[in-house]
Amino acid sequence: DVVTRFAPSPTGYLHIGGARTALFNWLFTRRHGGRFLIRVEDTDRERSTEAAVKAIFDGLDWLGLTADAPPVFQHARADRHREVVDTLVEKGHAYRDWTSTEETGRLRDEARAEKRTFVSPWRDRDPAEGDLNQPHVVRFRRPLDTRVTLDDAVQGPVNWRAEDLDDLVLLRSDGNPTYNLAVVADDHDMGVTHIIRGDDHLNNGARQALIYDALGWTRPVFAHIPLIHGPDGAKLSKRHGAQAVHEYADMGYLPEAMRNYLARLGWAHGDDELFNDAQAIEWFDLSGINKAPARLDFAKLAHVNAHWIRQADVARLVDLVAQSQAEKAALARVIPHIQDRATTLIELREQAGFALASRPITLSEKAAGQLTPEATERLARLIPVLRDQTDWTVDALDSTLKSFAESEGVGFGKIGPAVRAALTGGAASPDIASTLASLSREDALGRLDDALQ
Ligand code: GLU
Repeated sequence: DVVTRFAPSPTGYLHIGGARTALFNWLFTRRHGGRFLIRVEDTDRERSTEAAVKAIFDGLDWLGLTADAPPVFQHARADRHREVVDTLVEKGHAYRDWTSTEETGRLRDEARAEKRTFVSPWRDRDPAEGDLNQPHVVRFRRPLDTRVTLDDAVQGPVNWRAEDLDDLVLLRSDGNPTYNLAVVADDHDMGVTHIIRGDDHLNNGARQALIYDALGWTRPVFAHIPLIHGPDGAKLSKRHGAQAVHEYADMGYLPEAMRNYLARLGWAHGDDELFNDAQAIEWFDLSGINKAPARLDFAKLAHVNAHWIRQADVARLVDLVAQSQAEKAALARVIPHIQDRATTLIELREQAGFALASRPITLSEKAAGQLTPEATERLARLIPVLRDQTDWTVDALDSTLKSFAESEGVGFGKIGPAVRAALTGGAASPDIASTLASLSREDALGRLDDALQ
């Protein structure tokens, strides 16, 4: 069975790139059957506040990406990490290094000047010369004269000279494990079979592969996915707009739209643009992941969101945009008439505004200008016709309005603007029949009456 994981470091919010990584892991797991796990990489105790951790889970919950087991907290596993380091030392794949920080810096500079890679003198020194009670780090003893190859599921085979990878520190002098060591120990213990993550970790992949090999553990499949770039092709940053998933929620995007859109950021299934979870799960595979960075495209996101707003249940949309219980009845009436025109929930709310206004509604200057004496007299003749209207639906109202225009001997253009002005005060609204149907008969007739005052 497939086991994947999403391993965020809590930074205060769920980044959109992280969300896409989580989604790819989730889709891959649902596609192949298995477990999707979450590991909170909270070893940085300063940054990993409760609020920062909660923000990650809130983001994932909103997106509907739930894990198949309780989360693992990396910090809680420090003892196990030290145990793995001990194993590496015992096997000769790691060594204790008593070189001071200053001395290490000096040797590093020296090596750089001579164009060779830095090697700690303790790599080849007798460890018995060191004092276990004195501060020291533990370094990985990388193999020399060899190449490390990662058969990356996205990037293809990538290789490095092991020499270029450094004898990386596994355990700091304060006894805390480093990222690369902790990740390998955790992924192994969690039974992770596939590591799908951003390609900013590709070089770490090589280092981690060497640690797996040294421990005699089977390497998981690595799949390093290209990062998300801004519309201009530069690495995604604040100036491109929202970075945090919760900001997209605040801007009125639906979670299913975000899933649909994020799935397409760097992965494609032919030309399919709009698809639901079941289709995404059926189609998703690592082979469909692009090697080039994906570009965020807000117009496409808006298009996808508009689609999912059209598909959404009215009752759900009502709950999402209502600001009070009292608004719900009016929203339930108007939303079916405007949900095919809104790009975001914010827009949906704005477009519903005319239906939420209470009588007497305020008229814009332009709307007031539509209510000429002639138009008002005509409204006065329309009101009784509408009062007799039993079928308060768009089609029925539409034909009533048309036959009223005919009986008045004028085109519909002579009637529409004044009716709209009276019903909406000049706010955005759909066609006249839909605007009428968006209001209760009582409310609509009341607004028309008010216009005669
Ligand atoms: N915690 C790392 C990050 O947020 C991810 C590590 C991994 O996926 O291996 O970048």
